[in-house]
Amino acid sequence: MNPHYAGKTVVVTGGGTGLGRAMAQAFGLEGAHVCVIGRRREKLDETVESIQSSGGSAFASAADVRDAPAIQAVMSGVVERTGRLDVLINNAAGNFVCPSEELSPNGFKSVVDIVLLGTFNCTRFAFEALRAGKGSIVNIVAAYAWSGEPGAVHSASAKAGVLAMTRTLAAEWGRFGIRANAISPGPIHTEGTDANLWSVGNVEEEVRETVPLGRLGQPEDVARAAVWLCSDEAAWISGATLAVDGAQWLHGGTLDFRRAYDSIAAAAVREPG
Ligand code: NAP
Repeated sequence: MNPHYAGKTVVVTGGGTGLGRAMAQAFGLEGAHVCVIGRRREKLDETVESIQSSGGSAFASAADVRDAPAIQAVMSGVVERTGRLDVLINNAAGNFVCPSEELSPNGFKSVVDIVLLGTFNCTRFAFEALRAGKGSIVNIVAAYAWSGEPGAVHSASAKAGVLAMTRTLAAEWGRFGIRANAISPGPIHTEGTDANLWSVGNVEEEVRETVPLGRLGQPEDVARAAVWLCSDEAAWISGATLAVDGAQWLHGGTLDFRRAYDSIAAAAVREPG
């Protein structure tokens, strides 16, 4: 067990699936008491059982992150049950691909409420306990918080807000000893992306080609980063964003380096001596 997490309490929103489940399991393996939050009780229970079957300690609180009174009650319940709250991972999100000109105001609001308001609700009601334990927040964002992404105006707008929230809290709550950082994952198979992305044509191969390290991510890539970022080994890191994406966000700008390189190399062979 990692001494950083023995006896500590970690809350993971969206912990019933995907990256949230992997992060919950990783903190569980490191000795933390883990609370997973989400709307579907059966998914949360699967995560709890997997952590318990590995010898860890976990419990579930079914709640919608948009529901402020419910989230306040969940955070109070976590502190009543474990006596503390040391790490908050704001991971819950909703997303679907839709051209901006077809997106309804309600569709926009729904995603922004889950991602941005939900992150605020959880953070706001975890504050007192985080202050008491000089705790740590990690918000899960996405590269399109910087770049934008066609078809994701709702999610990109919300993630840009979460990024601004992360930096604001790092500056504002540092005096309480609270750290706030973000992780920006690259493309990874999960329930969410399987439903929204990978089902489309040849997209997986095309996406893989944009990753300089040449593969899609695994949920565990993000989980290991979160465990490290919340540990004392990262004690002077706050307000940062860690890209866990095989360098995808640097893949080329206006130039697809790998394709261009192949062309340049082929041209060089044809060059007369
Ligand atoms: P996912 O499998 O769809 O997970 C999203 C989780 O959020 C689900 O467990 C869902 O559970 C929960 N959730 C959704 N709405 C909620 C609400 N209103 N209240 C409480 N919980 C709610 O997707 P994922 O890929 O693991 O995504 C995890 C995070 O990584 C997200 O923030 C996403 O934007 C980010 N990300 C993922 C990728 C990727 O390639 N996978 C890339 C970049 C960023 P319920 O439906 O049961 O509530």
